[in-house]
Amino acid sequence: MTENTNTLLAVEGLSTQYRTDSGPIRAVDDNSITVDEGEVLGVVGESGSGKSSLIRSIMRLLPDNGDIVDGAARFKGRDLSEMSESDLREIRGNEISMIFQHPISHLNPAYTIGDQIEDVLQAHTDLDEAERWDRIHTTLEQLGIPAPEERAKNYPHEFSGGMAQRVAIAMALICQPDLVLADEPTSALDVTIQAQIIDLLSDLQDELDMSIIWVTHDMGVVAEVSDTVAVMYAGNVVEYGPVREIFEAPKHPYTRALLETVPRHDRDRSERFNTISGSPPDLSDLPTGCVFQDRCPDEMDICGEHRPQYYRFDTEREDEHLAKCFLHADQPRVPPSPSAPTDIRMENGEFVVGGDSDVEDGGPTHRSAQTDGDSR
Ligand code: ATP
Ligand code: MG
Repeated sequence: MTENTNTLLAVEGLSTQYRTDSGPIRAVDDNSITVDEGEVLGVVGESGSGKSSLIRSIMRLLPDNGDIVDGAARFKGRDLSEMSESDLREIRGNEISMIFQHPISHLNPAYTIGDQIEDVLQAHTDLDEAERWDRIHTTLEQLGIPAPEERAKNYPHEFSGGMAQRVAIAMALICQPDLVLADEPTSALDVTIQAQIIDLLSDLQDELDMSIIWVTHDMGVVAEVSDTVAVMYAGNVVEYGPVREIFEAPKHPYTRALLETVPRHDRDRSERFNTISGSPPDLSDLPTGCVFQDRCPDEMDICGEHRPQYYRFDTEREDEHLAKCFLHADQPRVPPSPSAPTDIRMENGEFVVGGDSDVEDGGPTHRSAQTDGDSR
């Protein structure tokens, strides 16, 4: 997640809470991600893990009871979380656009889809009317909508689910944005249509060299579309890395468990699906330590005492494979973030808490690793 000259979006320590009668719900808990030009970042995790909240926080499209409480989201160097509403409107739909899971509910039933797309073009471009309609018809055609000139005159309810999603994608891409936030763009569709829309969006991404944050709960979709993957659990990106590494060498026990739930066609039908036992923690009362501790097969004492920070694995692109897990405390650490302020590392089979061999800070304390086996 290192920033470089191609970095389009840099999210740093973003935290979001929802106000509720029973207290604040921390749906996004101190997350950092980057998206480079032309990169597809897959965001995956169980229902309720905070995927939608994360991308809505980036775009500042949260429900009324949602607040960004910490962190920043810099797009081309400008912090979206600090920007005025009018500056943000300028960027939305034009430079960053969003595709939702249920497109129909985000289209206005009272206007034809052509008129709705034209509104977007009118707001963000200098094209004259003829040029606007030309662009609309071409884009609809690009998205595989037959007879685009006729179809542009139709109302949203006149489209099937798959066609409505094509329209929503046309609307999102009409201004050729640099970044698209796609929130489960295909999960409401049946399998065949889903495959078509995935191919279509992937091809357009390639052709237009857009960046996409592609939210899904489907590891199969992640494998197909992503360059990089962020695995979310209880509001935390617990693992982050290149797609091949995530699938071939997953580091976080949650990622491993998630991969186990992918149907295996080489197994008997009865053994094909695994589920992760237990349930995620209450987001209104997150544990002190690791958010996955209660369900983790590798839980150690330290997991209940401290929130793990990112540990880094060597990859070709150096620091891009990260996991928030004390199993990897012998790996180099990424500097601590606000919710994981304690530096913890593994040295000679023991956890060293609160110190840093490179930094003089009064001396570390020591704890044994419970599951380490050899207590040297
Ligand atoms: P899904 O896969 O079901 O879409 P998700 O990963 O997108 O789930 P979010 O919708 O971001 O998860 O929700 C994260 C948490 O925040 C959940 O516990 C959810 O119940 C809670 N939440 C979401 N919106 C609100 C809201 N407006 N008020 C209170 N809590 C909310
Ligand atoms: Mg969601």
